[in-house]
Amino acid sequence: MANIGFIGLGHMGNPMAQNLAKKKHKVHVFDLDESSVHIAVSGGCIAASSALEAATGRDFVITMLPAGKHVKSVLLGEDGLMELIPEPGFFIDCSTVDIQTSLDMHDLATVKGHHVLDAPVSGGAAGAKSGTLTFMVGGLADAFNKAKPILECMGKNIFHAGAATHGQAAKLCNNLMLGIHMIGTSEAFLLAEKLGLEAATLQMISNASSGQSWVLSKYCPAPVLEGTPAMNDYKPGFTGAMMLKDLKLATDAAHHSDLALPLTEKAEDLYDDFCREHAGIDFSGIIEFLKIR
Ligand code: NAD
Repeated sequence: MANIGFIGLGHMGNPMAQNLAKKKHKVHVFDLDESSVHIAVSGGCIAASSALEAATGRDFVITMLPAGKHVKSVLLGEDGLMELIPEPGFFIDCSTVDIQTSLDMHDLATVKGHHVLDAPVSGGAAGAKSGTLTFMVGGLADAFNKAKPILECMGKNIFHAGAATHGQAAKLCNNLMLGIHMIGTSEAFLLAEKLGLEAATLQMISNASSGQSWVLSKYCPAPVLEGTPAMNDYKPGFTGAMMLKDLKLATDAAHHSDLALPLTEKAEDLYDDFCREHAGIDFSGIIEFLKIR
């Protein structure tokens, strides 16, 4: 049984922390939002009154925060946990953040003698709840091997992507493909409708043909698959705002690497337009937005 600090109890972090508690780990939780802490406590976690209290003296400290600036404020800087915790800690950041923040986190951990892994996830709130997330982990192999049994309490596929920041790199590259697939698939269904081809028929044919993808087979933007946001008024799921965030992280990383990603940039522009009015709608709802453009 490990003693774990868990900070950030939103859509993802709350069920992840509760899954750790279900596996009999002692999970000390903190979130700025008290009601999220109460939910986690009802799921077997232990409330802490600050991030420092949640993190001090723990075997592992897991963060699941909205973006890079939150990770910076909690972990880095003069008031950050890496500075305030004197003994060597073990930090696992599961948030999706920009490559530079992730690199800063690894660099500071090295200076302070902490272990650290970047470990963003795929699988959404449903995967967080069912404990079937995919973890993409960057950092030293030794640290990865130590953290793996903990990550296995929250996920099904635990990949060591490579050195520091490679977990974030894998996440950004994956979601870049996802964003583009969603737009491409939406366009195919819009054309099919104009040509008089039934959406369910196209889904069936392409699912067995070269247009097949995870979007088409599991998360179709046309309302043909039970349990998808398309069958539920595009309630999220994974919001357009989150897809836009991840596409921005990918294009920023490309700019810093002197690489042009024309399709990703176009996808980012389309999601940017979509989010002006529909940021809280599932990202597959872009099909409705493309229809009226
Ligand atoms: P969320 O907004 O639901 O939760 C974030 C939580 O962090 C909130 O409860 C907020 O109060 C808390 N928080 C913010 N600043 C804090 C601070 N300084 N101290 C303590 N708590 C703080 O976000 P989420 O949907 O749970 O996503 C978390 C991360 O996971 C993001 O980086 C997101 O990109 C990534 N992600 C989300 C999904 C998804 O489907 N939601 C899927 C994969 C990855």
